[in-house]
Amino acid sequence: MTLRRTKIVTTLGPATDAEGVLEQLLIAGANTVRLNFSHGDAEQHRQRALAVRSISKKLGISVAILADLQGPKIRIAKFKDNKTVQLQNNQSFILDADFDKNEGSESIVGIDYPELAHDSKPDDVYLLDDGRVRVKVTEIVGNAVHTTVIQGGPLSNNKGINKLGGGLSAAALTEKDKEDIKLAAELEADYLAVSFPRGPKDMHEARQLLNAAGSSAELVAKLERAEAVLDHENLDNIILASEAVMVARGDLGVEIGDPELIAVQKHIIKRARTLDRIVITATQMMESMIEHPFPTRAEVFDVANAVLDGTDAIMCSAETAAGKYPLETVRAMSDICIGAEKHKLTTESRHRLGSEFKRIDETIAMTVMYAANHLRGVKAIIAMTESGSTAKWMSRISSGMPIYALTRHEATQSRVSLYRGVEAIPFDLFSIEDKQINKAAVDELKKRNLVKDGDLVILSYGDHSGVHGGSNTFKIVSVGNIL
Ligand code: PGA
Ligand code: MN
Repeated sequence: MTLRRTKIVTTLGPATDAEGVLEQLLIAGANTVRLNFSHGDAEQHRQRALAVRSISKKLGISVAILADLQGPKIRIAKFKDNKTVQLQNNQSFILDADFDKNEGSESIVGIDYPELAHDSKPDDVYLLDDGRVRVKVTEIVGNAVHTTVIQGGPLSNNKGINKLGGGLSAAALTEKDKEDIKLAAELEADYLAVSFPRGPKDMHEARQLLNAAGSSAELVAKLERAEAVLDHENLDNIILASEAVMVARGDLGVEIGDPELIAVQKHIIKRARTLDRIVITATQMMESMIEHPFPTRAEVFDVANAVLDGTDAIMCSAETAAGKYPLETVRAMSDICIGAEKHKLTTESRHRLGSEFKRIDETIAMTVMYAANHLRGVKAIIAMTESGSTAKWMSRISSGMPIYALTRHEATQSRVSLYRGVEAIPFDLFSIEDKQINKAAVDELKKRNLVKDGDLVILSYGDHSGVHGGSNTFKIVSVGNIL
C-alpha cells in the first residue's frame, strides 16, 4: 500500500449527512473535516462534530475538526419576489445600504454592509457573484454606490461582493464569529479558521477570544484578501501569527484575478513551509465533481500542482458538502496525490543548509530529515512527541520518508493529521519501561506492517520523555536487531 503524504480536508454538509457517507469518507481517507459556519446552525455542527468523533474512534483513525468562521463576507440583499435580474453592459446599477433589503430590481439593490459607500471611490470595480458580474463605481451619494455595469449577467439574492484589488475595511471578526468561536470551543475543534483577516492583529484577537472560551485550538488564517497577500511583509506576519494558513482561492482569486493567483499560491505555500507553518490549498479543486463522478484533466493537474507546490492539504468544499459524488471526489483526490508524490520535486530537499536553528528539538528534527533522506535503507521515522512539534518540523522538509508521530495525547493525534507526511500512532511511553521504549515503538510499526526486519528506522525522542519540546536525541536502528 502506498502511503499518501498530502492530506485531504473535506467540508461537511447536507451531502455528508446522508446515512453512511461520513464513515465512507473517513475510510476513503479524509484527514480533516471542515465545519463551515457560513451555513447551517449550531445544532447541525454539534451533530456533525459528534459523528466525526465517534466514527473516527470506532475506525481507530485520527481526524482533525476544523471550525471555519463565516467572517465579514459582504453580500447584496434580496430582489423583489426573489427573482433573478439580468444586468446589461453599460447600464447603471446602484448598491444602496439604505435601500429596502427585499425590494431589489434591475436598477438598485440593498447591501448588508453600511460601510461600502465609505470604502468606495469612483473607478473602483466590484465583483458580484464571484466575478460573474462586474460593476464600476461612478459616484457615491450618501450610503448609495452608483455604478456602471461593465460585465453584465444574471444576479440573484445574497450574492457576494468583492472589491477588485481589495481594500474593504470590514473587521475580520463579526458578532456572529465571536459567538461561533464559543461554539468551536464547545465542540473541541482542533483548528479554528479565521476568514478575511487583514493582518496579524485579527489573528491575535481571534486567539484571545478562543483562549477566553477555554479552547487550545490552533489558528488557520484564510488568505482571501488582496492586502493579506500582496504585501509580503504583512503576509509573513499573518503566517507567523497563525499555526496554519489557507490559500482561500475562492475569494482571493476574485479579488486579485486568477492570473495573479498562480504565483501567489506558490509564494504562500513556500513562505508557510519556510516559516514552519501548515498550509491548505482550497476551493474549486474538483469543482466539476459536484455534478460528475470523474474530474476533468485540468482538475487532476490543479490538485497535482498544489501537491508539487508543497501544500500540506487540499480541500473539498461543495464537492463533499453538497455534491452528488463526495466519496468519488475524495478517492480521486487521494489517487492524484499519490500520483503527484512520485515526482522527485516532492522528495528532494535542500535541507535549509543556509539557515541557523534556534532550538534543540528543531535541530534534532532537521538532522533526522538529513539522515533519512541520505542514508540508504531507512524506511520510516518515528517521532515520539507530546505536542507534535518535532513531527511538524520534520514535515517541513521535502522527503518520501513516512513520519510516524507516536503520542499519547489525543489532541496531538488529531492535530498532526493535517501535517504532510505525518501519521499519528497512539503510544503511551509511560506504560513502558524506559529500556523497552524503542523496541516497543518499532514493534508498533511492525504490527501495522509498516516496516519489516532489516529496515532501518530513525527514532527521535527526549531524555526526559513527556516534556513538551524535549526532543534532544535521535537513534538509527535496524528492525529485528536487539535495540
Ligand atoms: P470559503 O473560503 O469557502 O469559506 O469562502 C475559501 C475560499 O474563499 O476559497
Ligand atoms: Mn472565502
